[in-house]
Amino acid sequence: MDEPSAAILLFQVAQSRNFIHDDLVPAFSAALTALGVRNELFETTLPAIDAADAADLSAVDALADRLRGRYTVCAYVRLWSEAVFQRLRAQLPGVTWIYLGDPRVAFPGTTHAFPLTQVETFAAVTRAVASGEPVTAEMFQLPHSELTRAHAQDNLVRIGVGREQRPDRPAVVHGSAGCAYGQSVLENPHFQGVPFPSEKVVLRGCSFCATGGIPRRPSGEVLASVLAQLDNLIDHAPETARIQLNDQNPFPYLVQFIERLGERAAQPMEVLIETRADWFLGSMAVMERALQTAERHGHRILLFLVGLESLSQKELDLYNKGVTVEQNERTVLECRRLRRRYPKSYSDTPAAFGFILYNPWTELTDITLNLDTAERIGLLEFRGQLTRAKLRLYPDTALFYKAKHEGLLADRFPYEAMDSARRYGYEAEVPWRFQHAATDRAYGIHDAMFRVVGRHDEVRMLREIVRFLERHPGRVTEPVSVLARDVVRSLGSRFQQIRHSSPGERPAGQPRPNANANANPSPRLGPPAADDRDAWRRVAESARAATTPAEALRAAGFEAPDDLPADPPALPPDPLRVEVPRLEVLAYEHGLKPALYLTLPRAEADAIAARFAGHHAARVDYLFTYDAVTDVRGRAPAAPGEGTHVDLFLSRDAGLVERARAIYEDPRGPSQHLAEMGAMLGYPPCCVEAFAALPDRSNNTAIRYAALARTRQLGLPFAPVLNNLFAYVLPSFPCSYGCPRAVAQAEAVLELFAKEQPETVATIRRALARPVLFVDHARLVVLEGARRDGDVVRYGRAVGGVSPTDDRAVRDAFERAMGAVLSRGDGLRVTDTAIEVLRGGERAAWLPRRAPGLGLLAPFGL
Ligand code: SF4
Repeated sequence: MDEPSAAILLFQVAQSRNFIHDDLVPAFSAALTALGVRNELFETTLPAIDAADAADLSAVDALADRLRGRYTVCAYVRLWSEAVFQRLRAQLPGVTWIYLGDPRVAFPGTTHAFPLTQVETFAAVTRAVASGEPVTAEMFQLPHSELTRAHAQDNLVRIGVGREQRPDRPAVVHGSAGCAYGQSVLENPHFQGVPFPSEKVVLRGCSFCATGGIPRRPSGEVLASVLAQLDNLIDHAPETARIQLNDQNPFPYLVQFIERLGERAAQPMEVLIETRADWFLGSMAVMERALQTAERHGHRILLFLVGLESLSQKELDLYNKGVTVEQNERTVLECRRLRRRYPKSYSDTPAAFGFILYNPWTELTDITLNLDTAERIGLLEFRGQLTRAKLRLYPDTALFYKAKHEGLLADRFPYEAMDSARRYGYEAEVPWRFQHAATDRAYGIHDAMFRVVGRHDEVRMLREIVRFLERHPGRVTEPVSVLARDVVRSLGSRFQQIRHSSPGERPAGQPRPNANANANPSPRLGPPAADDRDAWRRVAESARAATTPAEALRAAGFEAPDDLPADPPALPPDPLRVEVPRLEVLAYEHGLKPALYLTLPRAEADAIAARFAGHHAARVDYLFTYDAVTDVRGRAPAAPGEGTHVDLFLSRDAGLVERARAIYEDPRGPSQHLAEMGAMLGYPPCCVEAFAALPDRSNNTAIRYAALARTRQLGLPFAPVLNNLFAYVLPSFPCSYGCPRAVAQAEAVLELFAKEQPETVATIRRALARPVLFVDHARLVVLEGARRDGDVVRYGRAVGGVSPTDDRAVRDAFERAMGAVLSRGDGLRVTDTAIEVLRGGERAAWLPRRAPGLGLLAPFGL
């Protein structure tokens, strides 16, 4: 007889924000060893569903090579892909396959399927296989084992794929098993008339979950157990840096747990907790005490999961969730408040709050409601991939039987991307279809967009798709490809804007500028669309309405620290402040440009026209308006010699001026001739093209954000001579702050000017070669003495008074508020979700982003 032995196969997805753990599997393995069955755990990491190498199953082949000839029994746990299973089966003939889980989701070809707790059954089957004896029915009647403790993973073999490694999983400490939330589904009107079987269905708790309705163990018992597990962990795995508390309600013992950690742990630890919104809100005092305790001992707490599920009350009721939208909203706001209040102990590791955008009954109105509220409360800070979130349906849940009853189960999902079990590496789920064709099309169109454009501003794109479908209700039976094409057409130039407003995207073949920065992409709250004039108007209004430093920061898009002083001092004035003359006049004068185009106050225009009296000129008078905060400009026609400003076009070439005049007289206006005008003025064609593609060219702040975003997307260095955030060397907007053609033009102009005023040019160069924390035209600060330190920008000090805005009140209020924050440290880390100020290696201030999503660090000179 062969010695009984088995391989236990675990699978993971190379995916960030993944908090799935398999801690009971090592416990199973240890229990099996105790029964005399040799076994090994093999953990294989597979590519994510939408990774470029998604089809690469080489890791599966590598796994088969490790198993071949060594094991006659292989068990798999939590596998989402039948293709993976069948590939292994084909490569390992003669193996007895056991699925450790619900037999109803075992793949065809599985020899036996039973839960993880049937350790004795597993041992008996393995022995029978090893000795060539038959497997008997009695073996399946053997008693179950209790697997509650985490065990060291001594016999774990990890098989990775590609460069992406499975993120380190935390150690797990178990509190009270299951979930004590137990509202009955049978009292919920959504489930009236749904026939449920008499067993194998959970009818208490949330309708999509199979762990509800389990009473908590006595609190003293749970406390003693979690502290014992913690002690055991610290004694046997002192290198542990993260602990996940496996308990839906850790608050009864959280403070004691953190206190014990403070007494015993020799290094900083991160404690991961999860809960429901109502339990969280009801435990605020405990949470704060736990955070204070953690802060004292240098530990951190990450609320990695709150099961919000939806921001539509109709959907929450369908989920039998027992919470309101208001509670969910308050939870997000409270989390943000805690993060602000306890920057040292509230962990900034990205969380993954529970959220379901799509279920079989979802309507377009639910999508809109969810997206609007999510954006308003800044949910993206706590939950990524919002627009892909869909219900996973499992056979022992109430929702499964409702979907079955209503004919909404399917053999396959209508779109492959809906297989979120495969996407995230959960247990294989039951496919379903949408009841409403419009929702089906919304998902399908957005999926098509994902496949074509990759990462993008998902919330905006989906909202536009929903709007399109609401405007064209008769088209929901048309093919997704046709609808997707028409959505793109209806968006016009806004499509490119939405497409490019994700920070993660980069053109094909471009190297990843900072691989680490993209390894764990976070959603970014971006500025309003350039053509969303109402939003920009609100930006300016809230900046002007701010009366306190905290309001000034919030108006700029940052949550303010609680302890901001009421009247912080002004920033030191910029010692390099220098008036940059109109260098394009110099360039034209010296023949670097074929024509000169200026927009000037009337008196100045008269002076320039007089200076070039011998040249040909075309002139348009107009009334100029401008918002001094956002630099959104407006113009209205004025009679010659009247109005406030003048467009002046000068050239030595009469033909050019005639053409310029004809363009001005064209009733469609000069915007229809941007390429031609750009060429006449000698602007780089790439910059003209980028400018022409903007949906609104009157918003100078949005134009700068577009150039900042493009520079980051292309991974280009920020050229100081193109720094136009507070002064201009070139009169035109560069397509990016690294555009080589624009750099060449700016250098040529500065060299020319240096012949006349070398010291001024040296000062201009030094002034421009400094990083700028840019919010908009009125609100920016410059960092002096800056250098890079990894992903942190170290600085000597921040200086102010740099913005040339006419709205000094807004400028000064912002500078005082931001100065108060920056003065706490010497380092700045600007991410897509927050601004972090560091003093040395310690966090000194933490400003999470909020609407309107402004604020970027332009790293000129670094
Ligand atoms: S979803 Fe969460 S709150 Fe609802 S029953 Fe399951 S564990 Fe409890």
